[in-house]
Amino acid sequence: MAVQTEILSRLKPRIDRLSRPPGLAVVLAGHDPASEIYVRSKIKACAELGIFSAKITPPETATTEELVALVEELNRRADIDGILVQMPLPRHVDARRVLETVAADKDADGFHPLNVGYLVAGRPAPRSCTPAGIIQMLKHYQIPIAGRHAVVLGRSDIVGKPMALMLLHENATVTICHSRTANLPDMCRQAEILIAAIGRPAFVTADYIQPGATVVDVGINRVTDPAVAELLGRSEEFARKGKAVVGDVHPLDMARLAGAYTPVPGGVGPLTIAMLMSNTVELAERHQGAE
Ligand code: NDP
Repeated sequence: MAVQTEILSRLKPRIDRLSRPPGLAVVLAGHDPASEIYVRSKIKACAELGIFSAKITPPETATTEELVALVEELNRRADIDGILVQMPLPRHVDARRVLETVAADKDADGFHPLNVGYLVAGRPAPRSCTPAGIIQMLKHYQIPIAGRHAVVLGRSDIVGKPMALMLLHENATVTICHSRTANLPDMCRQAEILIAAIGRPAFVTADYIQPGATVVDVGINRVTDPAVAELLGRSEEFARKGKAVVGDVHPLDMARLAGAYTPVPGGVGPLTIAMLMSNTVELAERHQGAE
């Protein structure tokens, strides 16, 4: 069974035991095409699982104050257990202010500073969905983490930093690399578990990969040059769609060298949604336990 199917099937009986369905509010400001696709997938996952979802679509012109007021209203709603503000917000908006307005106990994405603090301390709290899903996946496929050298390429608040902390809690020896890291290929080649989350198409090539390593490719990048698509073995997809989606790792090098790997598309993406559902159910259990 695919790992996300297993995560979702474990949630169903927990939802059935609740006195009302868990509620997730998704705030999508503006019309970013990729965001619209992600939000559609999230709402669909809610419907399939029996989670109530409210999609709120303020206009592209919404101000920071308006979005803050909207989130404050969602914080007060009794039928909403989790709130997700889809990133990126329009450029004129202070995204940090909006995100930090989400109440810590409705923080479906695990981005609130209080929940980040709980993650650092190793205490239960909603956790950033993508890295939490990756840990579930490594466990599902019985890939040992304890005592292994894990290299996390990327240090964003959403993926890289929480990923490094979660691997540390699983007793890996963790190295974090970023755009200022010297000797990047040498650093990455030491990894028994390599997590690539930088947002650069096929940046991680053969000289970054230790043969036999587990490689997790988080990147989602659109390639619009047919010559590049061909080099990456994606000509057929390009011919059909006029673009190709590739990860941060060169797909052909990864398939040739890695002991185990996650493909893009289809690898980490669906896991992220499964963990969002998991966070929402957990928040609903907490709220209903407290009612
Ligand atoms: P950010 O842009 O926030 O962070 C990118 C990180 O990569 C930064 O820490 C940056 O370093 C580092 N980086 C950028 N270029 C290089 C380079 N040339 N060499 C070394 N390090 C570099 O991205 P996110 O973490 O939000 O996302 C990363 C990728 O993962 C994106 O493609 C995104 O679309 C994808 N993603 C996929 C998800 C999924 O569900 N599958 C969920 C979330 C993200 P520095 O800090 O020094 O600038």
